[in-house]
Amino acid sequence: METNDKIINGKIHADNLLKKIYPLSVDYIKKYSKKPTLAVVLIGNDPASEVYVKNKIITANKNNINSLKITFSNEVYENILLDKIIELNNNPDVHGILVQLPLPKHISEKLVIQTINPEKDVDGFHPTNYGNLFMGSPSFIPCTPLGCFYMLKKEIPDLTGKNAVIIGRSNIVGKPMASLLLSSNCTVTIAHSKTINLIETCKKADILIAAIGKPEMINEDYIKKNAIIIDVGINRIEQNDLSIKNNKSKLVGDVNYNKVFDIVDKITPVPGGVGPMTIACLMHNTLKAAFLNKKDPFINILESM
Ligand code: NDP
Repeated sequence: METNDKIINGKIHADNLLKKIYPLSVDYIKKYSKKPTLAVVLIGNDPASEVYVKNKIITANKNNINSLKITFSNEVYENILLDKIIELNNNPDVHGILVQLPLPKHISEKLVIQTINPEKDVDGFHPTNYGNLFMGSPSFIPCTPLGCFYMLKKEIPDLTGKNAVIIGRSNIVGKPMASLLLSSNCTVTIAHSKTINLIETCKKADILIAAIGKPEMINEDYIKKNAIIIDVGINRIEQNDLSIKNNKSKLVGDVNYNKVFDIVDKITPVPGGVGPMTIACLMHNTLKAAFLNKKDPFINILESM
């Protein structure tokens, strides 16, 4: 296998998805004389969140999707934030609402998510959308697991019977990922920090999804030969290579890419793997919300695969 065939290039997959979405946004504008609109709410000044929001807005603007950025200071009262969400729910010109997580400790994430109208919940975290996903009739699917699933299906159209191990049980990644893989007939294991014999569990995986938040934790000991690896982790670490100018830190995944590369069948890099797909799926969900708002059917990417 050529080295490049091993790399699941998230940028290319994301570009391909965005190319499919673009004409739909053109159709929408022609039909309804307005752009699909995504409201992004950012609280505080966490540098990582600021970068994620910036990238989401740039991609929206490039893809005919209007963006509305609403910022609050870290000290904002919970009721002020909830009132803003209700205002956005009631605004007919806003089709998708995203509140960038994590939130400051004094604000209830649960309450914020529950306040977003499920029909505008482009992150797919509202209990209604979450429940529909687990009941097997998804509406809005959380963007990161949707992106991972999209790439997997493009690489291996039939996932039936594969042993999939997900490390991480968060609501944002691990749990919805498990539901998607289960719906594709994988045998799914969700591992976490209390899992006993994590290495042995991972070694059984035909598909290993790492969503841990621990830089390069997964090395060659965890990997079955010819496994497919989806590395969700985004970790910023200090750069040790002094020859690289003005580059004090770098992004790495939860998987030690160099150590596992020769063993795996396919792997997503960090950066350039799951990240771009997450944003492309957000555009997909926003467009879907805009069409749903007009009671206009929208073929979502899972149905078209
Ligand atoms: P969380 O912190 O919510 O969840 C981490 C999970 O990893 C938990 O279930 C935790 O177990 C588990 N875990 C932690 N340490 C270990 C360990 N030593 N062994 C086994 N399991 C462990 O993180 P998220 O799910 O939100 O994110 C995970 C990673 O993905 C992060 O690096 C994040 O930045 C990245 N991410 C990337 C996105 C993208 O677009 N590419 C989007 C979202 C996240 P327990 O439940 O027992 O604590």
